[in-house]
Amino acid sequence: MPKYDTVIGLEIHVALLTKSKLFCGCSTTFGGEPNSQCCPICLGLPGALPRLNERAVEYAIKAGLALNCTIHEISRFDRKNYYYPDLPKAYQITQEFYPLCTDGYLEYFYGDSLARTKITRIHLEEEAGKLIHSGASIIDSDYSLVDYNRAGIPLIEIVTAPDIRSPQQARIFLEQLRLLLNYIGVSDTKMEEGSLRCDANISLKPLGSTQLGTRVELKNLNSFRALERALTYEERRQGEILDRGDKVNQESRTWDERRGRTLPMRSKADALDYRFFPEPDLPRLKLRPGWVEEIKSTIPELPMERLSRYEREYGLSRYEATFFVNYPDFGQLCEKLAAMGWEGSRAANLLMGEYARLAREKGHLTPERLAGLLEIIEDGLISSNQTADVLEELFNSNLSAREIVLEKGWQVLADTDELQALIGEVLQGNVELVERYRAGETKLYGFFVGQVMRATEGKADPKIVNDLLRKELGT
Ligand SMILES: [Zn+2]
Repeated sequence: MPKYDTVIGLEIHVALLTKSKLFCGCSTTFGGEPNSQCCPICLGLPGALPRLNERAVEYAIKAGLALNCTIHEISRFDRKNYYYPDLPKAYQITQEFYPLCTDGYLEYFYGDSLARTKITRIHLEEEAGKLIHSGASIIDSDYSLVDYNRAGIPLIEIVTAPDIRSPQQARIFLEQLRLLLNYIGVSDTKMEEGSLRCDANISLKPLGSTQLGTRVELKNLNSFRALERALTYEERRQGEILDRGDKVNQESRTWDERRGRTLPMRSKADALDYRFFPEPDLPRLKLRPGWVEEIKSTIPELPMERLSRYEREYGLSRYEATFFVNYPDFGQLCEKLAAMGWEGSRAANLLMGEYARLAREKGHLTPERLAGLLEIIEDGLISSNQTADVLEELFNSNLSAREIVLEKGWQVLADTDELQALIGEVLQGNVELVERYRAGETKLYGFFVGQVMRATEGKADPKIVNDLLRKELGT
């Protein structure tokens, strides 16, 4: 029995997929020569003035709409002041007081139930540069290099309410959020390149209590796995502190992936006062009338809508529909096969099995070639356990499924007379076993089936074999 409720909130930074930076025309392409994508504005040189990127605002609004937020006609930029070598201006332009989007939510399936996590706010801000240390961290390095290519790339920060109840749910929420952002095309959400980053706060409170416990912030959660592991570790650590009757320290902790534990960060960062004030170089942001509606009309079908359409129109199970929603390339194939008249569950059966493994390795087959395979299964030309072999050949040759089977001589043996004769031989060769079977040793049945299949090199139609064999054995 757990003694505590776990309370988790997330802050997610998402790099927007614009061609240029938030306040200048510099390229946002990843992986360029260090410091080759900067200008006086993103380097914060004296006298350089920012100019807002309209596409970044559009993408932020699009994310806000997809997350059911209120989009504010008027918002404002503020300066967050602090010194760090990756921040050339010594302040970050963000939206502290009047964010662009507030009060939204994301719905998703968590286990069998529908969960809803509130989105407190989404605001626009600029990315910092990147430090490359000669050692493992800034403290034990002889020197650090700084690359400002990243400085000024547009970000949205998405902040959830403390609505999440477990480390597993946090992970699923983040996966669903990422999927949604991919669907609307505002970010490539590559965690490994830092275009999706997540911080979490977590606290425990006595079961059922309304009073929130002391919260700890977790940083450096660079993968879904790290998020879940760090929260799980922290949940246990805080539980043990409370069990002892001690108090949890309010602090920031970092996740040490290698050691599998959270460690306190130097507390100075917490004590910072950022001295926010309105950004004097930018006017307040006022959206032109009708723009939000225009953006709304460009939002495609979202994951949850697609999930229920797949269940409803194609009769897919929740599990199957989820697979196709999570892997839209597979979903598209399923839709094309359905459009050709194939039942959703037949298509799912084919696409989610051996095909998925092969396609991930070699790329997709055309829906026509897949339909050809479904057809010969339907015709009974091959049995379903031969599907994998035919698939393998489909990836390696230009022949159709039917041509492959005929050329290889893989067609199923469905000739009743021929099978009847074979069964007769098998039974005559095993007279003693047949008698034992008839005397009640029914587990021998599998042996007879095996003998027939072996005699036909596995090509006999299993249904016909069963029918004939049962008749012969008199059961
Ligand atoms: Zn620039």
